[in-house]
Amino acid sequence: MGNNHNEGKKFLDSVHQYFDHAASFSRLDSGILAQIKACNSVYKVSFPVEIEGRIEVIEGIRVQHSHHKLPSKGGIRYSMQVDEDEVKALASLMTFKCAVVDVPFGGAKGGVKINPRTSSVKTLEKVTRRYATELIRKNLIGPGIDVPAPDYGTGSREMAWIADTYQALKYGETNALGCVTGKPVGQGGIRGRAEATGLGVYYGIREALEDTDLLKKAGLEGGSMEGKRIIVQGLGNVGYHAAYFCQQDGGVIVGIAEREGGIYDPNGIDVQDAYKHRSTNGSILNYKNAKNIENSLELLEMDCDILIPAALENQIHSGNAGNIKAKIVAEGANGPITREADQILVAKGIIVLPDLYLNAGGVTVSYFEWLKNLSNVRFGRIGKRAEEANFRRIVNAIETATGKSITAQERAFLIHGSDEVDLVRSGLEDTMINAYHEIRDVMVQKQIPDLRTAAFLTAIEKIGVSYEALGIFP
Ligand code: GLU
Repeated sequence: MGNNHNEGKKFLDSVHQYFDHAASFSRLDSGILAQIKACNSVYKVSFPVEIEGRIEVIEGIRVQHSHHKLPSKGGIRYSMQVDEDEVKALASLMTFKCAVVDVPFGGAKGGVKINPRTSSVKTLEKVTRRYATELIRKNLIGPGIDVPAPDYGTGSREMAWIADTYQALKYGETNALGCVTGKPVGQGGIRGRAEATGLGVYYGIREALEDTDLLKKAGLEGGSMEGKRIIVQGLGNVGYHAAYFCQQDGGVIVGIAEREGGIYDPNGIDVQDAYKHRSTNGSILNYKNAKNIENSLELLEMDCDILIPAALENQIHSGNAGNIKAKIVAEGANGPITREADQILVAKGIIVLPDLYLNAGGVTVSYFEWLKNLSNVRFGRIGKRAEEANFRRIVNAIETATGKSITAQERAFLIHGSDEVDLVRSGLEDTMINAYHEIRDVMVQKQIPDLRTAAFLTAIEKIGVSYEALGIFP
Protein backbone atom coordinates (compact mmCIF):
# COMPACT_ATOMS: atom_id res chain seq x y z
CA MET A 1 0.00 0.00 0.00
CA GLY A 2 1.24 3.47 -0.74
CA ASN A 3 2.92 5.22 -3.63
CA ASN A 4 3.43 8.00 -1.17
CA HIS A 5 5.82 5.95 0.88
CA ASN A 6 8.27 8.77 1.58
CA GLU A 7 5.69 11.25 2.83
CA GLY A 8 4.14 8.70 5.19
CA LYS A 9 7.54 7.60 6.45
CA LYS A 10 8.64 11.21 6.95
CA PHE A 11 5.48 11.86 8.98
CA LEU A 12 5.92 8.76 11.18
CA ASP A 13 9.62 9.58 11.67
CA SER A 14 8.68 13.08 12.82
CA VAL A 15 6.13 11.74 15.32
CA HIS A 16 8.72 9.27 16.65
CA GLN A 17 11.34 11.99 16.98
CA TYR A 18 8.89 14.30 18.79
CA PHE A 19 8.06 11.39 21.09
CA ASP A 20 11.70 10.48 21.79
CA HIS A 21 12.63 14.06 22.52
CA ALA A 22 9.74 14.49 24.99
CA ALA A 23 10.40 11.06 26.53
CA SER A 24 13.94 12.18 27.37
CA PHE A 25 12.35 14.47 30.00
CA SER A 26 10.38 11.59 31.54
CA ARG A 27 11.42 9.33 34.39
CA LEU A 28 9.20 6.47 33.23
CA ASP A 29 10.77 3.05 32.74
CA SER A 30 12.28 2.70 29.24
CA GLY A 31 10.20 -0.45 28.60
CA ILE A 32 6.99 1.41 29.40
CA LEU A 33 8.10 4.26 27.13
CA ALA A 34 8.75 1.78 24.30
CA GLN A 35 5.26 0.34 24.80
CA ILE A 36 3.67 3.80 24.77
CA LYS A 37 5.45 4.58 21.50
CA ALA A 38 4.63 1.34 19.64
CA CYS A 39 1.52 0.80 17.50
CA ASN A 40 -0.41 -2.07 19.10
CA SER A 41 -2.09 -3.41 15.98
CA VAL A 42 -2.33 -2.88 12.24
CA TYR A 43 -5.12 -4.44 10.19
CA LYS A 44 -4.98 -4.25 6.39
CA VAL A 45 -7.73 -5.29 4.01
CA SER A 46 -8.21 -5.53 0.27
CA PHE A 47 -11.75 -5.99 -0.98
CA PRO A 48 -13.54 -5.95 -4.32
CA VAL A 49 -16.06 -3.26 -5.19
CA GLU A 50 -18.03 -3.05 -8.39
CA ILE A 51 -17.57 0.41 -9.83
CA GLU A 52 -19.46 1.24 -13.01
CA GLY A 53 -19.56 -2.37 -14.16
CA ARG A 54 -15.88 -3.09 -13.38
CA ILE A 55 -14.49 -4.82 -10.34
CA GLU A 56 -11.86 -2.83 -8.52
CA VAL A 57 -9.74 -3.87 -5.56
CA ILE A 58 -9.83 -1.28 -2.80
CA GLU A 59 -7.22 -1.16 -0.04
CA GLY A 60 -8.10 -0.17 3.51
CA ILE A 61 -6.33 -0.09 6.83
CA ARG A 62 -7.14 0.43 10.51
CA VAL A 63 -4.37 1.03 13.02
CA GLN A 64 -4.99 0.85 16.76
CA HIS A 65 -2.05 2.55 18.33
CA SER A 66 -2.93 2.13 21.98
CA HIS A 67 -5.29 0.01 24.05
CA HIS A 68 -4.35 1.48 27.42
CA LYS A 69 -7.87 2.87 27.46
CA LEU A 70 -10.83 1.44 25.56
CA PRO A 71 -12.35 2.10 23.17
CA SER A 72 -9.62 3.40 20.90
CA LYS A 73 -10.64 6.38 18.82
CA GLY A 74 -9.75 8.15 15.61
CA GLY A 75 -10.97 9.15 12.19
CA ILE A 76 -11.04 7.46 8.81
CA ARG A 77 -9.21 9.14 5.94
CA TYR A 78 -10.16 8.77 2.27
CA SER A 79 -7.28 9.68 -0.01
CA MET A 80 -5.08 8.17 -2.71
CA GLN A 81 -2.07 9.08 -0.54
CA VAL A 82 -3.13 6.84 2.36
CA ASP A 83 -0.29 4.55 3.40
CA GLU A 84 0.55 2.45 6.42
CA ASP A 85 3.14 4.79 7.93
CA GLU A 86 0.86 7.77 7.52
CA VAL A 87 -2.01 6.02 9.31
CA LYS A 88 0.35 4.80 12.05
CA ALA A 89 1.54 8.37 12.60
CA LEU A 90 -2.05 9.61 12.74
CA ALA A 91 -3.11 6.82 15.12
CA SER A 92 -0.17 7.62 17.42
CA LEU A 93 -1.14 11.28 17.50
CA MET A 94 -4.68 10.29 18.48
CA THR A 95 -3.37 8.52 21.60
CA PHE A 96 -1.41 11.57 22.71
CA LYS A 97 -4.20 13.96 21.71
CA CYS A 98 -6.77 12.13 23.85
CA ALA A 99 -4.38 12.11 26.81
CA VAL A 100 -3.69 15.85 26.48
CA VAL A 101 -7.39 16.72 26.76
CA ASP A 102 -8.22 13.91 29.23
CA VAL A 103 -10.54 12.09 26.86
CA PRO A 104 -10.44 8.48 28.14
CA PHE A 105 -9.71 6.73 24.84
CA GLY A 106 -6.77 5.02 23.22
CA GLY A 107 -5.67 6.21 19.79
CA ALA A 108 -6.53 4.75 16.37
CA LYS A 109 -6.89 5.79 12.75
CA GLY A 110 -8.16 4.30 9.52
CA GLY A 111 -7.64 4.94 5.86
CA VAL A 112 -9.06 3.88 2.53
CA LYS A 113 -7.22 4.41 -0.71
CA ILE A 114 -9.86 6.15 -2.76
CA ASN A 115 -10.30 9.61 -4.18
CA PRO A 116 -13.55 10.97 -2.70
CA ARG A 117 -13.64 13.90 -5.14
CA THR A 118 -13.70 11.77 -8.28
CA SER A 119 -15.85 8.92 -6.93
CA SER A 120 -19.63 8.86 -7.18
CA VAL A 121 -21.74 8.91 -4.03
CA LYS A 122 -22.89 5.37 -4.82
CA THR A 123 -19.28 4.17 -5.06
CA LEU A 124 -18.38 5.91 -1.82
CA GLU A 125 -21.34 4.27 -0.10
CA LYS A 126 -20.37 0.79 -1.36
CA VAL A 127 -16.74 1.27 -0.36
CA THR A 128 -17.67 2.64 3.08
CA ARG A 129 -20.12 -0.14 3.86
CA ARG A 130 -17.73 -2.85 2.70
CA TYR A 131 -14.76 -1.39 4.60
CA ALA A 132 -16.96 -1.11 7.71
CA THR A 133 -18.11 -4.72 7.26
CA GLU A 134 -14.49 -5.92 7.08
CA LEU A 135 -13.83 -4.26 10.43
CA ILE A 136 -17.14 -5.17 12.10
CA ARG A 137 -17.00 -8.88 11.31
CA LYS A 138 -13.53 -9.13 12.83
CA ASN A 139 -14.81 -7.29 15.92
CA LEU A 140 -12.34 -4.50 15.26
CA ILE A 141 -14.80 -1.66 15.73
CA GLY A 142 -17.66 -1.21 18.21
CA PRO A 143 -18.77 1.16 20.97
CA GLY A 144 -16.39 -0.42 23.49
CA ILE A 145 -13.66 -1.51 21.06
CA ASP A 146 -12.64 1.13 18.54
CA VAL A 147 -14.79 4.07 17.42
CA PRO A 148 -14.10 5.77 14.06
CA ALA A 149 -14.94 9.38 13.16
CA PRO A 150 -14.52 11.69 10.17
CA ASP A 151 -11.10 12.76 8.94
CA TYR A 152 -9.69 14.15 5.68
CA GLY A 153 -12.05 13.11 2.84
CA THR A 154 -14.90 11.82 5.03
CA GLY A 155 -17.76 13.44 6.92
CA SER A 156 -21.09 12.84 8.61
CA ARG A 157 -22.50 11.07 5.53
CA GLU A 158 -19.87 8.32 5.70
CA MET A 159 -20.35 8.02 9.47
CA ALA A 160 -24.12 7.50 8.98
CA TRP A 161 -23.34 4.65 6.53
CA ILE A 162 -20.97 3.05 9.02
CA ALA A 163 -23.52 3.33 11.86
CA ASP A 164 -26.22 1.84 9.64
CA THR A 165 -23.96 -1.02 8.52
CA TYR A 166 -23.04 -1.71 12.14
CA GLN A 167 -26.67 -1.77 13.23
CA ALA A 168 -27.57 -4.09 10.35
CA LEU A 169 -24.82 -6.57 11.22
CA LYS A 170 -25.21 -6.32 15.00
CA TYR A 171 -28.98 -6.12 15.08
CA GLY A 172 -30.35 -5.24 18.50
CA GLU A 173 -27.01 -4.53 20.15
CA THR A 174 -27.35 -2.01 22.99
CA ASN A 175 -25.53 1.27 22.44
CA ALA A 176 -24.85 0.38 18.80
CA LEU A 177 -24.99 4.07 17.81
CA GLY A 178 -21.82 4.63 19.84
CA CYS A 179 -19.87 2.60 17.26
CA VAL A 180 -18.90 5.76 15.38
CA THR A 181 -18.97 9.53 16.03
CA GLY A 182 -19.41 12.55 13.80
CA LYS A 183 -22.81 11.25 12.71
CA PRO A 184 -25.52 13.58 11.38
CA VAL A 185 -27.47 15.20 14.22
CA GLY A 186 -30.64 13.30 13.31
CA GLN A 187 -28.80 9.96 13.33
CA GLY A 188 -27.39 10.03 16.85
CA GLY A 189 -24.91 12.84 16.26
CA ILE A 190 -24.44 15.81 18.54
CA ARG A 191 -24.92 19.49 17.79
CA GLY A 192 -21.58 21.25 17.61
CA ARG A 193 -19.49 18.28 16.38
CA ALA A 194 -19.14 19.55 12.80
CA GLU A 195 -17.39 22.77 13.81
CA ALA A 196 -15.70 21.35 16.93
CA THR A 197 -12.15 20.94 15.62
CA GLY A 198 -12.05 24.43 14.10
CA LEU A 199 -13.69 26.00 17.15
CA GLY A 200 -11.14 24.24 19.36
CA VAL A 201 -8.34 25.63 17.16
CA TYR A 202 -9.77 29.11 17.74
CA TYR A 203 -10.02 28.60 21.53
CA GLY A 204 -6.42 27.39 21.61
CA ILE A 205 -5.11 30.37 19.62
CA ARG A 206 -7.13 32.74 21.81
CA GLU A 207 -5.60 31.21 24.92
CA ALA A 208 -2.09 31.60 23.52
CA LEU A 209 -2.83 35.22 22.58
CA GLU A 210 -3.62 35.90 26.23
CA ASP A 211 -0.30 34.37 27.29
CA THR A 212 1.74 37.57 27.13
CA ASP A 213 4.90 35.98 28.59
CA LEU A 214 4.98 33.46 25.79
CA LEU A 215 4.17 36.01 23.10
CA LYS A 216 6.99 38.32 24.14
CA LYS A 217 9.46 35.72 22.86
CA ALA A 218 7.81 35.80 19.43
CA GLY A 219 7.66 39.57 19.34
CA LEU A 220 3.89 39.61 19.08
CA GLU A 221 1.68 41.92 21.04
CA GLY A 222 -0.85 39.74 22.76
CA GLY A 223 -4.14 40.38 24.43
CA SER A 224 -6.70 39.62 21.79
CA MET A 225 -7.52 38.36 18.33
CA GLU A 226 -8.52 41.87 17.21
CA GLY A 227 -6.62 42.84 14.07
CA LYS A 228 -4.38 39.75 13.94
CA ARG A 229 -3.52 38.91 10.34
CA ILE A 230 -4.18 35.27 9.59
CA ILE A 231 -3.34 32.93 6.70
CA VAL A 232 -5.11 29.58 6.56
CA GLN A 233 -4.11 26.59 4.45
CA GLY A 234 -7.10 24.38 3.66
CA LEU A 235 -10.73 25.48 3.55
CA GLY A 236 -12.03 22.07 4.60
CA ASN A 237 -13.94 21.43 7.80
CA VAL A 238 -11.08 22.38 10.14
CA GLY A 239 -9.61 25.32 8.22
CA TYR A 240 -12.95 26.86 7.40
CA HIS A 241 -14.26 26.82 10.95
CA ALA A 242 -10.95 27.87 12.51
CA ALA A 243 -10.80 30.86 10.16
CA TYR A 244 -14.48 31.63 10.68
CA PHE A 245 -14.28 31.75 14.48
CA CYS A 246 -11.04 33.78 14.41
CA GLN A 247 -12.70 36.24 12.03
CA GLN A 248 -15.77 36.47 14.30
CA ASP A 249 -13.44 37.52 17.11
CA GLY A 250 -11.77 40.30 15.11
CA GLY A 251 -9.04 38.36 13.29
CA VAL A 252 -8.36 39.43 9.69
CA ILE A 253 -8.07 36.57 7.21
CA VAL A 254 -5.47 37.87 4.74
CA GLY A 255 -4.80 34.63 2.87
CA ILE A 256 -6.43 31.32 2.00
CA ALA A 257 -4.49 28.48 0.36
CA GLU A 258 -6.16 25.55 -1.33
CA ARG A 259 -5.14 22.75 -3.72
CA GLU A 260 -5.82 24.77 -6.86
CA GLY A 261 -4.04 27.90 -5.64
CA GLY A 262 -4.43 30.63 -3.10
CA ILE A 263 -5.71 34.16 -2.59
CA TYR A 264 -4.21 37.07 -0.63
CA ASP A 265 -5.79 40.35 0.38
CA PRO A 266 -4.18 42.47 3.12
CA ASN A 267 -7.55 44.15 3.72
CA GLY A 268 -9.13 40.87 4.72
CA ILE A 269 -11.19 38.15 3.08
CA ASP A 270 -14.66 37.21 4.28
CA VAL A 271 -14.34 33.49 4.97
CA GLN A 272 -17.98 32.57 4.45
CA ASP A 273 -18.11 34.48 1.19
CA ALA A 274 -14.84 33.00 -0.08
CA TYR A 275 -16.15 29.53 0.79
CA LYS A 276 -19.30 30.19 -1.26
CA HIS A 277 -17.17 31.53 -4.12
CA ARG A 278 -15.14 28.30 -4.14
CA SER A 279 -18.25 26.10 -4.04
CA THR A 280 -19.83 27.99 -6.92
CA ASN A 281 -16.75 28.29 -9.13
CA GLY A 282 -14.89 25.13 -8.16
CA SER A 283 -11.82 27.23 -7.33
CA ILE A 284 -10.72 29.73 -4.71
CA LEU A 285 -8.93 31.77 -7.41
CA ASN A 286 -10.28 35.05 -8.84
CA TYR A 287 -11.98 36.10 -5.63
CA LYS A 288 -13.01 39.75 -5.67
CA ASN A 289 -10.03 42.08 -5.09
CA ALA A 290 -7.75 39.38 -3.71
CA LYS A 291 -4.49 38.62 -5.49
CA ASN A 292 -4.20 35.15 -7.01
CA ILE A 293 -1.26 33.12 -5.75
CA GLU A 294 -0.96 30.33 -8.32
CA ASN A 295 1.40 28.23 -6.23
CA SER A 296 -0.54 28.04 -2.98
CA LEU A 297 2.52 26.88 -1.02
CA GLU A 298 3.93 30.40 -1.46
CA LEU A 299 1.14 31.64 0.79
CA LEU A 300 2.66 29.81 3.75
CA GLU A 301 5.67 32.12 3.46
CA MET A 302 3.74 35.38 3.19
CA ASP A 303 3.52 38.04 5.84
CA CYS A 304 1.02 37.40 8.67
CA ASP A 305 0.76 37.07 12.45
CA ILE A 306 -0.83 33.64 12.59
CA LEU A 307 -0.47 30.82 10.08
CA ILE A 308 -3.00 27.98 10.36
CA PRO A 309 -1.97 24.94 8.30
CA ALA A 310 -5.21 22.96 8.25
CA ALA A 311 -4.74 20.61 5.31
CA LEU A 312 -2.24 17.75 5.34
CA GLU A 313 1.03 16.61 6.89
CA ASN A 314 4.59 17.68 5.96
CA GLN A 315 3.58 21.07 4.54
CA ILE A 316 6.26 22.99 6.42
CA HIS A 317 9.59 21.23 5.95
CA SER A 318 13.29 22.03 6.05
CA GLY A 319 12.95 23.62 2.58
CA ASN A 320 10.44 26.36 3.50
CA ALA A 321 10.55 26.63 7.32
CA GLY A 322 13.24 29.31 7.17
CA ASN A 323 10.93 31.55 5.12
CA ILE A 324 7.93 31.43 7.45
CA LYS A 325 7.07 34.94 8.64
CA ALA A 326 4.17 34.17 10.99
CA LYS A 327 4.74 34.67 14.72
CA ILE A 328 2.40 31.82 15.61
CA VAL A 329 1.94 28.62 13.61
CA ALA A 330 -1.28 26.95 14.72
CA GLU A 331 -1.49 23.30 13.66
CA GLY A 332 -5.09 22.68 12.62
CA ALA A 333 -3.95 19.66 10.59
CA ASN A 334 -2.19 16.62 11.99
CA GLY A 335 1.57 16.75 11.44
CA PRO A 336 1.82 19.78 9.12
CA ILE A 337 5.36 20.53 10.36
CA THR A 338 8.22 18.05 10.01
CA ARG A 339 10.63 17.60 12.89
CA GLU A 340 13.45 19.48 11.12
CA ALA A 341 11.11 22.33 10.27
CA ASP A 342 9.85 22.45 13.85
CA GLN A 343 13.39 22.93 15.11
CA ILE A 344 13.93 25.75 12.61
CA LEU A 345 10.70 27.49 13.67
CA VAL A 346 11.43 27.15 17.38
CA ALA A 347 14.97 28.51 16.83
CA LYS A 348 13.44 31.51 15.06
CA GLY A 349 11.29 32.20 18.14
CA ILE A 350 8.05 31.25 16.37
CA ILE A 351 5.38 29.84 18.67
CA VAL A 352 4.06 26.51 17.42
CA LEU A 353 0.68 25.45 18.81
CA PRO A 354 0.98 21.70 18.34
CA ASP A 355 -1.61 19.44 16.69
CA LEU A 356 -1.93 17.03 19.60
CA TYR A 357 -3.27 19.93 21.65
CA LEU A 358 -4.69 22.37 19.15
CA ASN A 359 -6.89 20.12 17.03
CA ALA A 360 -8.10 17.95 19.93
CA GLY A 361 -11.49 19.70 19.89
CA GLY A 362 -12.81 17.18 17.37
CA VAL A 363 -12.19 14.15 19.52
CA THR A 364 -13.32 16.04 22.63
CA VAL A 365 -16.76 16.58 21.15
CA SER A 366 -16.70 13.03 19.74
CA TYR A 367 -16.39 11.95 23.36
CA PHE A 368 -19.53 13.97 24.23
CA GLU A 369 -21.34 12.34 21.31
CA TRP A 370 -20.25 8.86 22.40
CA LEU A 371 -21.40 9.55 25.98
CA LYS A 372 -24.72 10.74 24.65
CA ASN A 373 -25.14 7.56 22.57
CA LEU A 374 -24.21 5.32 25.49
CA SER A 375 -26.53 6.97 27.96
CA ASN A 376 -29.34 7.62 25.48
CA VAL A 377 -29.75 11.17 26.77
CA ARG A 378 -30.86 14.25 24.95
CA PHE A 379 -28.70 17.06 26.24
CA GLY A 380 -30.52 20.28 26.92
CA ARG A 381 -33.65 18.43 28.04
CA ILE A 382 -32.47 17.02 31.33
CA GLY A 383 -33.36 19.15 34.28
CA LYS A 384 -35.35 21.56 32.14
CA ARG A 385 -37.67 22.42 35.04
CA ALA A 386 -34.84 22.99 37.46
CA GLU A 387 -33.11 25.04 34.83
CA GLU A 388 -36.20 27.16 34.25
CA ALA A 389 -36.59 27.77 38.00
CA ASN A 390 -32.96 28.80 38.10
CA PHE A 391 -33.48 31.01 35.07
CA ARG A 392 -36.40 32.78 36.81
CA ARG A 393 -34.18 33.44 39.82
CA ILE A 394 -31.49 34.92 37.51
CA VAL A 395 -34.07 37.11 35.78
CA ASN A 396 -35.45 38.33 39.14
CA ALA A 397 -31.95 39.15 40.36
CA ILE A 398 -31.14 41.08 37.17
CA GLU A 399 -34.45 42.94 37.26
CA THR A 400 -34.08 43.85 40.96
CA ALA A 401 -30.51 45.01 40.45
CA THR A 402 -31.25 47.13 37.38
CA GLY A 403 -34.79 48.17 38.25
CA LYS A 404 -35.79 47.25 34.66
CA SER A 405 -37.55 44.29 33.08
CA ILE A 406 -35.40 42.29 30.69
CA THR A 407 -36.42 42.22 27.04
CA ALA A 408 -37.88 39.25 25.20
CA GLN A 409 -34.62 39.01 23.25
CA GLU A 410 -32.51 38.84 26.40
CA ARG A 411 -34.90 36.27 27.79
CA ALA A 412 -34.52 34.15 24.64
CA PHE A 413 -30.74 34.42 24.84
CA LEU A 414 -30.68 33.25 28.44
CA ILE A 415 -32.95 30.31 27.71
CA HIS A 416 -30.89 29.44 24.66
CA GLY A 417 -27.96 29.03 27.02
CA SER A 418 -29.23 25.61 28.00
CA ASP A 419 -29.28 24.13 24.48
CA GLU A 420 -27.13 21.20 23.44
CA VAL A 421 -24.83 23.23 21.23
CA ASP A 422 -24.04 25.63 24.08
CA LEU A 423 -23.41 22.76 26.43
CA VAL A 424 -21.04 21.23 23.89
CA ARG A 425 -19.26 24.49 23.18
CA SER A 426 -18.77 25.37 26.82
CA GLY A 427 -17.44 21.87 27.51
CA LEU A 428 -15.05 22.24 24.58
CA GLU A 429 -13.97 25.71 25.68
CA ASP A 430 -13.17 24.56 29.22
CA THR A 431 -11.28 21.56 27.86
CA MET A 432 -9.10 23.68 25.57
CA ILE A 433 -8.38 26.26 28.28
CA ASN A 434 -7.52 23.68 30.94
CA ALA A 435 -5.29 21.67 28.61
CA TYR A 436 -3.41 24.79 27.55
CA HIS A 437 -2.54 25.67 31.13
CA GLU A 438 -1.61 22.12 31.97
CA ILE A 439 0.88 22.04 29.09
CA ARG A 440 2.12 25.53 29.89
CA ASP A 441 2.79 24.55 33.52
CA VAL A 442 4.81 21.51 32.40
CA MET A 443 6.77 23.78 30.07
CA VAL A 444 7.71 26.04 32.97
CA GLN A 445 8.35 23.29 35.52
CA LYS A 446 10.58 21.24 33.24
CA GLN A 447 12.11 24.26 31.52
CA ILE A 448 11.09 23.01 28.12
CA PRO A 449 11.34 25.68 25.39
CA ASP A 450 8.38 24.63 23.24
CA LEU A 451 4.74 23.70 23.70
CA ARG A 452 4.94 20.56 21.54
CA THR A 453 7.51 18.83 23.70
CA ALA A 454 5.56 19.85 26.80
CA ALA A 455 2.31 18.52 25.29
CA PHE A 456 3.92 15.19 24.36
CA LEU A 457 5.46 14.92 27.81
CA THR A 458 2.13 15.67 29.51
CA ALA A 459 0.51 12.92 27.44
CA ILE A 460 3.32 10.42 27.97
CA GLU A 461 3.21 10.86 31.75
CA LYS A 462 -0.58 10.35 31.86
CA ILE A 463 -0.42 7.22 29.70
CA GLY A 464 2.53 5.97 31.76
CA VAL A 465 0.43 6.25 34.92
CA SER A 466 -2.26 4.11 33.24
CA TYR A 467 0.23 1.43 32.23
CA GLU A 468 1.81 1.36 35.66
CA ALA A 469 -1.58 1.03 37.33
CA LEU A 470 -2.82 -1.62 34.89
CA GLY A 471 0.27 -3.80 35.17
CA ILE A 472 1.39 -6.12 32.38
CA PHE A 473 -0.78 -9.05 31.25
CA PRO A 474 -0.25 -11.95 31.92
N1 GLU B 1 -10.10 12.82 12.80
C1 GLU B 1 -10.16 13.73 13.90
C2 GLU B 1 -8.78 13.94 14.49
O1 GLU B 1 -7.79 13.79 13.82
C3 GLU B 1 -11.23 13.37 14.93
C4 GLU B 1 -11.10 12.05 15.60
C5 GLU B 1 -12.30 11.63 16.43
O2 GLU B 1 -13.19 12.41 16.64
O3 GLU B 1 -12.30 10.47 16.87
O4 GLU B 1 -8.62 14.33 15.61
